[in-house]
Formats: sequence, structure tokens, C-alpha cells
Amino acid sequence: MRAAAFLDRDGVLNDLVLDPASGVSESPLKVEDVRLMPGAAAAAGSLAQAGYVLVCVSNQPAAAKGKVSVAQLLAVHERVTELLANEGVTLEASRLCLHHADGVVPALSMPCAWRKPAPGMLLDAAAALGVDLRSSWMVGDTDADITAGRAAGCRTLLIRHPGSVHKRLHAVGPDVVADSLNAGVKQLGLQPSETLIVHGPRYGGFRQKVCHRARPDLNTDIC
Ligand SMILES: [Mg+2]
Ligand SMILES: [Zn+2]
Repeated sequence: MRAAAFLDRDGVLNDLVLDPASGVSESPLKVEDVRLMPGAAAAAGSLAQAGYVLVCVSNQPAAAKGKVSVAQLLAVHERVTELLANEGVTLEASRLCLHHADGVVPALSMPCAWRKPAPGMLLDAAAALGVDLRSSWMVGDTDADITAGRAAGCRTLLIRHPGSVHKRLHAVGPDVVADSLNAGVKQLGLQPSETLIVHGPRYGGFRQKVCHRARPDLNTDIC
């Protein structure tokens, strides 16, 4: 079985955006606000080169909260994949959970097994892609990311993005801590392991148990 690098998106692959109204850094909600973190594409490329399947797993509750449309969220995600592709990096799959228990849009306002800290996105992607969770890594910048990774049985890498410090209480015990994806991946001392053997069709079984295939062209599923 292959191993995956489950990558949170905002604060790991791309930068957060300061909301002047709240003074809090948030996920980018406009295509033109998307910027990759320095070194993030190269680091993701190193993970892929070491044999890890790159899977983006991201909570995206802004539509549930009535701030943007689902189409806008997907456009932002497309921009992230486009900027990565410009640097030669392809995400093999993405899972986005649009739900939030306290949203204002009824169709999206409910608890969800895909929303981190629950491990649903990781479990679903692992089953679809034939990934061994124990040899995989979950990388994220919040406690919810680390909790989800641990719940799925993965090793965990916490990225200390300054904009998300309020979402880290350091109580959830990541295996590795770093200030950027680039620094973190260097700490992992990547070596292709015998668990990273590609078998079967590259996208074998991908369509099973999909909540909603939002963008087949981006291999992006939402729920
Ligand atoms: Mg994040
Ligand atoms: Zn969901």
C-alpha cells in the first residue's frame, strides 16, 4: 500500500488572509487573495518524490456561514491547485468539508464526520486511494488537524503559522513541529520506504463513497 501526505490547505500550502474587520487571519475567500506559502510547493514536491500520495483535506465552512458561495470556495481551491501545478506539484485528490454546526445556510449547517477534528476526510480518501494510514502523515496548522490525523492513525506534523496561533493549544501532541511545511518536511528526513509501493491503478476505487464529486477535473470532492 502507498502512504499519503494529508495536507491541510490554509496556513500550510497557501497563506492565511488577515480579515481587517475581525483582526483575525482566515482562509482566502477570493481567488486573487490566494498566495502559496514560501517553499510550500517545493516541500510538497519532495513528499511526492518520496512516494507519498498528496491529498488535500480542508474544512471550508465559509459558505455555511453565508460569507461566500460554494462556487467561490471551489474557485479558490482551483487557484491553489493551479499555483501548485505551476510549480510542478499535483494534488492527487482533495477532500473539502463545507459543513459547520453553527452555520446560517441550512443545507450546510450540521455536524459532519468529514469536518476535522473528525477523521472522515482522511478515512474516505485512504479507502478510495488504497492508502495505509499508519505510514501516512497528516500535516496541519491547528489542533483540529493534529487530532484528525491521530484519530485516523497517522503520524502528525504541526505547522506553526503565526496567523492560526489561536487554534493551537499544544495539547494534542504532534509527532513533529515546525514553522513551515518546508522546514517540517526537511525534519522528516524523507526516505522512500518499502511501504510506499504503488500497486493497482493510480485512481483505482476513487469514486467509491464520495459525498459529492464537485470538480472531477480537480479530483476534488466536497461534502
Ligand atoms: Mg489550516
Ligand atoms: Zn462535511
